[in-house]
Amino acid sequence: MSSDTPIVDLRSDTVTRPTPEMLQAMVSAPVGDDVLGDDPTVQELEQKAARQVGKETSLFVPSGSMANLVSIKTHTQPGDEILLDWDAHSLCYEVGSPAAVAMVQTRQFRSDLGVPRMDELAGAIKSSTLHTPGTVLIVLENTHNRAGGTVIPLEIHQRIYSLAQERGLNVHIDGARIFNASIAAGIPAADYAACADTISFCLSKGLSCPVGSLICGSREFIDRARRVRKMLGGGMRQAGVLAACGLIALEKMVDRLREDHEHARMLAESLSGIRGFRVDMRAVQTNMVYFETVGSAAALQAAMKQRGVWFMPVAERRIRLVTHKDVSREGVEYAIKAFQEAAVS
Ligand SMILES: *Cc1c(COP(=O)(O)O)cnc(C)c1O
Repeated sequence: MSSDTPIVDLRSDTVTRPTPEMLQAMVSAPVGDDVLGDDPTVQELEQKAARQVGKETSLFVPSGSMANLVSIKTHTQPGDEILLDWDAHSLCYEVGSPAAVAMVQTRQFRSDLGVPRMDELAGAIKSSTLHTPGTVLIVLENTHNRAGGTVIPLEIHQRIYSLAQERGLNVHIDGARIFNASIAAGIPAADYAACADTISFCLSKGLSCPVGSLICGSREFIDRARRVRKMLGGGMRQAGVLAACGLIALEKMVDRLREDHEHARMLAESLSGIRGFRVDMRAVQTNMVYFETVGSAAALQAAMKQRGVWFMPVAERRIRLVTHKDVSREGVEYAIKAFQEAAVS
């Protein structure tokens, strides 16, 4: 067997390929120049996405990282302070863009399984004085990636949003996987979005599109965000070929996330029965499984790659697995068997 092509690719849900229907839609999508404002397919996607999360309108951007950056930059002025969780994607994996590009100062609060500690969050808010930067924005992540793909309960969002409104702050939800949260909790994505001024989500993860994210918010906010997107070089011309996939994703790829969650649970339960692995089952809520290994994660990665199962260690003894459309039930069973073999060898 060649180790150059995976049999089961658990590295990320971003590896999902577009469906045949998406490829078909790309060929026949009506397109225009979206920077000039006349690509009908992008416009349709932006309207549909906004409707799905109950916001006025939305903006199609190339990636989830740009969605966060454009949102943060549009919500702030240089020197403002924003609050994020210590393990926030924007802080850990976006190359320092809040500092380097939006020129904001970040302040962190701790979370438990991705759920913010309210006392810390509330205690971190400060008003702008001669000496202090003012806090202007809270960024929340649902599902929470580094915490395990965990879901922030709706009541927490509601409490944070009322606190934010009381103190005159805005809230942005990094909802890269908000539909995973929605499916897992049985709560419409719009209910989460109602607790935020803006929400972004990815089409290119579990929803299987090749490219793209959306920022949803008020028309006034999105008009300003569009200029920031242009400033960052994120204006795309005949982007309708990509937006066409997004339309299919929103219609057909959301409900099936349930399967990915079942597969993650199967994996987690089996791995927790293997000697030398430790899985915190409380964190297994959507399509991710994080686990600790007694031995080296890199060695296990290499041994599993030989068996055609790919994944990424996130620390010396910690591994992340992500389930998605292109991992079937048979694939999950195959991976479990391979883990059992690799663990004893
Ligand atoms: C993946 C991800 C992003 C960024 O998306 P990219 O498209 O990879 O830039 C942002 N936030 C969270 C929580 C993510 O998991």
